[in-house]
Amino acid sequence: MSRIKIFDTTLRDGEQSPGVNLNKLEKLEIAKQLERLGVDRIEAGFPASSKGDFEAVKEIADTMETTSVIALARTVKSDIDTAWEALKAAKKPAIHIFLATSPIHMEYKLRKTPEEVIETSVEMVRYAKERFPEVQWSAEDASRSDLPFLAEIIEKVIDAGANVINLPDTVGYATPEEYGKMFKYMKDNVPNIDQVSLSCHCHDDLGMAVANSIAAVENGATQVEGAINGIGERAGNAALEEVAVALKVRSDFYPYETGLVLNEIKRTSDLVAKLTAMHVQANKAIVGRNAFSHESGIHQDGVLKHVETYEIITPAMVGVQEANTLFLGKHSGRHAFKEKIQEFGVELSDTELQLAFDKFKLLTDHNKEVTDDDIYTIIMEIKTDSEEMDKYEIESFQVYYGTENSPTAVVRLTSPDKEQFEAALTGNGSVEALYKTMESLIGEELKLIDYQLNSVGGGQDALAEAYVQLSVNGEVMNGRSSHQDVLMASASAYINAVNRYILKHSPGNQKRAVSQ
Ligand SMILES: [Zn+2]
Repeated sequence: MSRIKIFDTTLRDGEQSPGVNLNKLEKLEIAKQLERLGVDRIEAGFPASSKGDFEAVKEIADTMETTSVIALARTVKSDIDTAWEALKAAKKPAIHIFLATSPIHMEYKLRKTPEEVIETSVEMVRYAKERFPEVQWSAEDASRSDLPFLAEIIEKVIDAGANVINLPDTVGYATPEEYGKMFKYMKDNVPNIDQVSLSCHCHDDLGMAVANSIAAVENGATQVEGAINGIGERAGNAALEEVAVALKVRSDFYPYETGLVLNEIKRTSDLVAKLTAMHVQANKAIVGRNAFSHESGIHQDGVLKHVETYEIITPAMVGVQEANTLFLGKHSGRHAFKEKIQEFGVELSDTELQLAFDKFKLLTDHNKEVTDDDIYTIIMEIKTDSEEMDKYEIESFQVYYGTENSPTAVVRLTSPDKEQFEAALTGNGSVEALYKTMESLIGEELKLIDYQLNSVGGGQDALAEAYVQLSVNGEVMNGRSSHQDVLMASASAYINAVNRYILKHSPGNQKRAVSQ
């Protein structure tokens, strides 16, 4: 078995999904979970793109114990310097610099000749290598590049000191056979290729990202880049959980293994879905809600007689609990609660623990049977609640609903400059009345794009999780919140989306987007 490295870009490419804007605390919690999952490398962000991204990358770099932390940079000295500032305290710092090599990108986007692209790449790899022990160079749009030209530039950047060469299918255009051939070509035609690792990075525009990644591995790639739940630009990246489980389940066919702790997959997937407010489709491979349910009677019968008749992956392999295990109730004490949290691998300060315990007690006061999922939701809300900014806060609200008259909401909000406003409006439904009233109090142009309500775990007394997608001054923002009451969860999710916009546009935090 040869070992394939997993390069996770959930926090960089994944975070470029429309509507997703993670704050520093959310990124840090995802990074910690990725380390528990056992990824080899975390692409934590693009430090030169914004102050917020710089700080998040730095915090992750300072925190990771065993995982290599890599940051994205353009082929510009100042980007490389900024990345080094963010990463210098990391145990295993690395940099990822990229430049496009396809004729269409060089001519229309970069307006550079192929010779200039080689010269710039070589110069910047050399510059990065003066600081970073590990330098990854990417040929953006590699799959639409001229192969002899690609071989020429790769040879030169290896001579300049690159350790990893990444050949992305930036626009999700390649087929598995073609993409595999590109790696084979470099293996055969670049004289110094054995000095570096080859990496693949695939987008899912044609639904072939995972197949393309595996084709690359079969042709010499030893690193796979991707994101949890396959999130990312447009149709997203290769879903890392699919790559890892495919290699595991078909180890009779593929002589490759990853270092992923497979039974951490479900928790990682849930956390990413929750914090990005990007839901996983029910029929998604490996982590979808239906991935392990059998609807047809013939299948159910077969599975009951012998699991392997229809089930190639066991739920336990990827950390899916058979039933939503009941764990603590009304009479559970602080000690039992603390032990449970340690099982999740999450560390809480004394204040956070107290806050979590109070929220837990509040749930049990309502006679709720509290599940693992509830506890995890509570502690993640506490861990990721950013207190550092001036934001909108809900002081109070009331919704009047009856079958005979129009639903009416009365809302009192505090604005980011600590002023209080109150309004009352009617709507066609309770949530609409609430949202219309809040919209009238917020000094931004707001339009609701999507609204979803889910229950955490199950049962009548489940926690409600609300997801909202808003257009704020024309920009798409996701928001989320959970609460035992659906209206409270809905109101908080709405405010959460607005506050993410405010944080993103706070001074020095405007973000520059890149593709790769
Ligand atoms: Zn990408």
